[in-house]
Amino acid sequence: MTKTRCPLLRVFEKPDHHPSFVVFFPQKSKRDQTFRWKCYGCGRHGTIIDYYMMRKKVSFLQAVIALAKYRGIPLEWKNIPHTGR
Ligand SMILES: [Zn+2]
Repeated sequence: MTKTRCPLLRVFEKPDHHPSFVVFFPQKSKRDQTFRWKCYGCGRHGTIIDYYMMRKKVSFLQAVIALAKYRGIPLEWKNIPHTGR
């Protein structure tokens, strides 16, 4: 397991002096093929979308749009009726 210094600590608190940030690659045998990360320094964790939201201080939708644009993935927009729930 390779660790690096937490890039989020610089955003939120102070520089991380000890490598504590780990990226978990999906295993071929697992159904869930999501890359996940965890920081053992500040305790934050999540997916690439969570990371982008925290790093850039944007909403979930803003993160999805930015990451899709970065990777050249076209997004399809549909009007979803509001159910009132
Ligand atoms: Zn951290």
